[in-house]
Amino acid sequence: RTVYVNGEYLPETEAKVSIFDRAFLMADGVYEVTSVLDGKLIDFDGHAKRLQRSLSELDIAAPCTMDELLDIHRELVKLNNIEEGMIYLQVTRGAPDDRDFVFPDPETTKPTLVLFTQNKPGLADSPAAKKGIKVISIDDIRWGRRDIKTVQLLYPSMGKMMAKKAGVDDAWMVEDGFVTEGTSNNAYFIKGNKIVTRALSNDILHGITRAAVLRFAAEAQMEVEERNFTIEEAQQADEAFITSASTFVMPVVEIDGVSLGEGVPGPRALRLREIYLDESRKAAV
Ligand code: PLP
Repeated sequence: RTVYVNGEYLPETEAKVSIFDRAFLMADGVYEVTSVLDGKLIDFDGHAKRLQRSLSELDIAAPCTMDELLDIHRELVKLNNIEEGMIYLQVTRGAPDDRDFVFPDPETTKPTLVLFTQNKPGLADSPAAKKGIKVISIDDIRWGRRDIKTVQLLYPSMGKMMAKKAGVDDAWMVEDGFVTEGTSNNAYFIKGNKIVTRALSNDILHGITRAAVLRFAAEAQMEVEERNFTIEEAQQADEAFITSASTFVMPVVEIDGVSLGEGVPGPRALRLREIYLDESRKAAV
């Protein structure tokens, strides 16, 4: 695979980052994952805007313009022949000469920019979407700025392992009795013609897929309610689902051992998935 590191396109085995890189030592970096369908980028604009926001919240300089970033994405898609898959992008505060808690001088330490592709044929036509996924609930013990997409992913990673050990697919995190989000996705339930999901705040990541799906809700004749909800309320819903750039809209059929409806993906979640895929493909760049 050809990857991108600080201005160069290289074979992955030749790509290098310093051991003093702040992301390696302190998780001092942010990332984005953009999906590719039909060789084109889904919602690049949304991801570029969120990246700019993550960088500015952490006072990390943008490594290049967003137009240059689009060119790099497209070049990697071309070089690696990606029809369906993902592009992972990471920007870190860079690599100073030594380890220090204090931020390095941005004049001398430039941000590190890394991108690589993940080839996933069949991403849109996923078997998991036909079966639905099962989730458990776990405590949300992450830090208080989950709106910033940092590479500090140890707890979400542990959450996925807890799910795996419990024999299910993923975990929904709960704080003060209310669901925040999934380990790497936003969480929703459907009751009647209403989609319920937690409102935006520093408690959750402002999902790019979330924004798109809520925009498309009207096309599915559905209403949106952004508010706190409990696991118990979701368990009694008609349907549930998650969204993320890599899973699109993924039906959830079981929460903490309780089956939703018939225990198979519901018609409304599947309809939302279809609309999301259709509309995103049309708008892809
Ligand atoms: N919430 C968390 C914690 C995530 O890590 C992600 C994606 O990685 C999402 C939500 C979904 O965001 P997006 O739709 O932009 O992929």
